[in-house]
Amino acid sequence: MSDPSSEAEDRNEVSSVRPCPDCSLPVDVILESKDGVRFAAHSKNLENYSEGFPPAIFVSSSEVTPIVQIEEHSETVQLLLGFMHLKRQPQVAKLSFAVLDALANAAEKYFIHSAIQLCQVFMAKNVEQHPIEVLHYAAKHSYKSLANRVAFLTLDYTFEDMKAKFEPDSRIPYLWLAYKERWMVALRSLLTSQPPAGNLHKGGVQSCDLWWPFYVAVLHDVGSSLVHLRDFETTVSRNLAEIEACWQCSQRAIRWGNTTAAKCEGTWYSALENHSELITRHHDSASFESTLTPSIIMADSSSDAENEVSSIRPCPDCNLPVDIILKSGDGIKFSAHSKNLENYSEGFPPAIFTSSSGVTPIVQIEEQSDIVELLLGFMHLKPQPEISNLPITVLEALANAAEKYFIHSAIPICKVYMTKESLEYPIEVLRYAAKHNYKSLADEAAPHTLDYTFEDVKPKFEPESRIPYLWVLRLSEVNLIMKIVGV
Ligand SMILES: [Zn+2]
Ligand SMILES: [Zn+2]
Ligand SMILES: [Zn+2]
Repeated sequence: MSDPSSEAEDRNEVSSVRPCPDCSLPVDVILESKDGVRFAAHSKNLENYSEGFPPAIFVSSSEVTPIVQIEEHSETVQLLLGFMHLKRQPQVAKLSFAVLDALANAAEKYFIHSAIQLCQVFMAKNVEQHPIEVLHYAAKHSYKSLANRVAFLTLDYTFEDMKAKFEPDSRIPYLWLAYKERWMVALRSLLTSQPPAGNLHKGGVQSCDLWWPFYVAVLHDVGSSLVHLRDFETTVSRNLAEIEACWQCSQRAIRWGNTTAAKCEGTWYSALENHSELITRHHDSASFESTLTPSIIMADSSSDAENEVSSIRPCPDCNLPVDIILKSGDGIKFSAHSKNLENYSEGFPPAIFTSSSGVTPIVQIEEQSDIVELLLGFMHLKPQPEISNLPITVLEALANAAEKYFIHSAIPICKVYMTKESLEYPIEVLRYAAKHNYKSLADEAAPHTLDYTFEDVKPKFEPESRIPYLWVLRLSEVNLIMKIVGV
């Protein structure tokens, strides 16, 4: 009855859709990558994990599963889909830079908050190796401190280098010219002005024979890279050996280093202050605004029910229905949403929320209120809580709670920040790593614990923990090795 050739084509098409690995969710939308690979996807997940796939595009009037074409390459699409499932997130640490770069930008574009912060951390690790790409990313998404940190590493590139890495209509390469211009002005000032006067030599002269070879060497350094102008004091120090035999010249050189460095300070954003009209902001916080205050109905039979209602913390900037209350270890009650707990966590089984009466259930959990607040922040479709400056105790408690409740949107970013504390808080990091079986992190933290005693380490673990004993064992191994090598 129907045209056999088109039927054959249909069959081909079905078989060419990549299934969603290890996943039994219903497939009701297909994403087609730029290179033509089709991926089975779930509109519910796209809606839950992303603000960039508006649900409207998925409304299909017919029986046909809609195919949505997106600009990203198949490798990126696969990763994005990985971040939009309630399971272990893709391992960003193992990606090549090109893939990481594409993923980081796509996460921002589609507002996939579960990937954004993690990508940011890994992009920041590439400032030395890929300064242009990192500046592109930082400037595009208004990551100010990252842009300020990486911008000077691009000083030796040409405008053509920059232009080639940005989209044709991007204004950033032009902003970059304004930034570089500052350094060119500083360079010209260095070349055309005399170094500050110093103490006179015997006979009343300003410099001796040692000065000029030194002076030329410094200028040669700066000429070879503008980065040496930015770090001018270091550049001067590096050449000081040339004149160390002369006290007067050495002193003059150090003054030259100080005074010039002071004139050459300028960050990416300070350089762009006069060009603000060129800066586009991608993160518009207004889009997350909401005005509705959640209404809480709790027909609690206890006498102080009224008081309790007023003591429940509302969910900030959120108008999702509140159908569950989480009570922290220190007795603070938080408004929460069973749908979010279910979507973002594997540790809050939906069964516990079934309330037969009209009463909003209160779930008591062990964690302290500051941790509960952060956890809830990770279980919303909005920018994740900023955790880079948390005190170690809070960070560790958060990291442990994320693991406990399987909040995949928080686990890797917590691990990244815990890893950063290996040097300063090795015992805490070791404790965390051992608890969750992060072997390489334990190996990283352990050497920094070697100056502690067993008495230091033991109280930091639960009384029944075997880790402090294993630690002593390891310590004695290290001591043994050190004896053998004669340290
Ligand atoms: Zn799936
Ligand atoms: Zn001298
Ligand atoms: Zn909320």
